[in-house]
Order: sequence, then C-alpha cells, then structure tokens
Amino acid sequence: MKLDFDVLVIGSGPAGMTAAIYLKQADRNVAIIDGNAPGGQLNRINSIENYSGFSKISGPELAFNMFNQLQDNKVDYKYGKVQEIKKESDYFIVSTEKEIFSVKAVIIATGRNPKELGLENEKQLLGRGISFCAICDGSLYRNKKIALVGNSKETLEEALYLTNLVSELLIVIKEEELIECDLKDKIINNSKIKVINNSIITKLNSEDKKLSSIIIKNIKTNQSEEIELSALFEYNGYQPNTEFIDCLKNNGYIVVNQQMRTNIKGIFACGDVIDKEVYQVSTAVAEGAIAGLQASKYID
Ligand SMILES: Cc1cc2nc3c(=O)[nH]c(=O)nc-3n(C[C@H](O)[C@H](O)[C@H](O)COP(=O)(O)OP(=O)(O)OC[C@H]3O[C@@H](n4cnc5c(N)ncnc54)[C@H](O)[C@@H]3O)c2cc1C
Repeated sequence: MKLDFDVLVIGSGPAGMTAAIYLKQADRNVAIIDGNAPGGQLNRINSIENYSGFSKISGPELAFNMFNQLQDNKVDYKYGKVQEIKKESDYFIVSTEKEIFSVKAVIIATGRNPKELGLENEKQLLGRGISFCAICDGSLYRNKKIALVGNSKETLEEALYLTNLVSELLIVIKEEELIECDLKDKIINNSKIKVINNSIITKLNSEDKKLSSIIIKNIKTNQSEEIELSALFEYNGYQPNTEFIDCLKNNGYIVVNQQMRTNIKGIFACGDVIDKEVYQVSTAVAEGAIAGLQASKYID
C-alpha cells in the first residue's frame, strides 16, 4: 500500500496547527486537514486576553499568525471533512467525502461545536436570526433587539461584545442568578442588558423565513411570554466532533493519557476534543505540542 503521510493531523485549530508544526520540525512527512477555515474556534473570539505573550489579540489575528507559521514550515494543508478512520495492517485509512489517505499515525484535533437547543425550526433559522457566534454575526444585528440564551462566562463575554452593536440585549437563563464571575457586575450595570431569569425558550417564530420572536416560559410560574427580536445567540454547551472515530470516549470526548495517546495505538488526540478540565487556547496548544512529539516518537 502507498503511504501518503507519516502523520495526518485532523483539525486546524490551535491544537492541530501546533501538533503539525512540531511534527514538521521533527522532519516528519505531515499533513493537516480541515473541513473549514484554519483557526477553528479562534475565528469566533473577539478578544483574547489570557494567552501568554499577547496582552490582547483578536482570535482571527492569532489564527492568521498560527496559519502563517504553518505555511512557513511548509506543512501540507488539505481541505476536507474526515468521515472515517479504519485500521488496515500497519496503516490507518482516513476518508473524507472526496479523498482517501493512508498514514502511519493520526492526531485528532477536531475540537467541539456548540449544541443546539433542540427546538422546531432551529436548523432552518440558523443564519437567519439564530447564531452561535457573536463575532461572526453580531454586525448583522446593529441597532436591533436581540437575546442570548445561556449562563456561562462565555455567554457574558459575548453579551458585552454585542452591547457595542445592538440597541437592546436580553439574557435568558434558567437559573435564578447569573454565574459568579468577574464579568457579572459589568453585565448587571449595563443599561442595554436585561437578564430574564428562571426561564427557558420553548418556541421560535419566524416571518419571511427569518426569526421574528421567541416564546419564553418562566419555569417557576409556568407563565409564557412572546418577545419580538431580530436574533437569538445560543450558548448551550458543546458537542465534541468525534463521530468518525470509534475509540474510548467519555460523553463523546476522547479519553487520552498524559502522552495524548488514545486507546488505539497510533491514534493521538489533543485540544478541546479530549476529556479534560480546562478548554482554552493555551491548553490546546500545549496538548498539540505533546501529541506532535509523541506521534513522532511512535513513527520511530
Ligand atoms: C466565543 C469563544 C470565546 C473563547 N474565548 C477564549 C479565550 O478568551 N481564551 C482562551 O484561551 N480560549 C477561549 N476560547 C476557547 C478556545 O477557542 C478553544 O479552547 C480552542 O480553540 C480549542 O482549540 P482546538 O484546536 O482544540 O479546537 P478548535 O479551535 O475547535 O478547532 C477544531 C478544528 O477541527 C475542524 N474539524 C472538526 N471536525 C472535523 C472533521 N471531521 N474533519 C476535519 N476537520 C474537522 C474544525 O473545522 C476546526 O477548525 C473561546 C471559545 C469560544 C467559542
């Protein structure tokens, strides 16, 4: 069988790009593949203020820098969404919709995607009022009334970013109070923001195929209310992108050891796709470095 690469890195977010750079610098024949633009979730971040070496940098700028470094290192970049990984004798066969690669080792760095609320119409209204990303879609709703659903630090970060653009912003939370974090006071003191507590969204209404209003239900009083708005930004947790690989997982997240090895010899994983405590750029990059070096050792 013809070998295409020593190692194929799946996913070009910070974890995958770092793994590929380490492999290339160890003189390995490595390629990286992604079904989307390079940078992964970085492309959704307005401002990063906790990544060492940069007091403040936008996510797309950091993604651009990482991608430039990948190109400076002449890493082979492929476009495609991986659908299956199969073991055949000593090789892994990795398939996308259009291509098949045979490789000695695989690094999975496919991250995770936002979870939908599971409401009727939700999929059809995606990009037509429903969004998961303030930095990508916020400017579409300039001077409009919008809502966010969720109660994580990320929700509050996104809310503060969006208040610079929109006229009015509601945060719908099912809890009594907003999450305790350093942003809570800024949210409470912002006159454009109203928090609707003890509530869930039960229905999405549309006009001309665009979101026009939401129905929210107070879970304490059981009273429902319709709110007219232009957009709903959803922050409802995440689903790891691991459907194409049959390895040991916990709630869909890939289980690895300290060397980023999965339970399948020759398959490594790193970044947001793994089962861990801290989901950040710095941890993704660190795990990418370990996965790259360990995959290089495995080839030996
Ligand atoms: C709104 C927001 C704000 C954040 N703010 C911060 C912050 O301030 N500081 C911080 O440190 N972190 C922050 N994070 C978290 C940080 O973005 C992630 O921890 C980091 O991007 C994870 O990197 P990754 O490479 O593991 O995964 P990702 O960045 O998710 O990249 C995964 C890549 O894999 C690709 N992929 C998925 N499935 C496939 C497939 N089947 N085939 C091919 N390619 C595939 C995707 O297209 C994507 O490009 C934030 C995240 C969000 C969403």
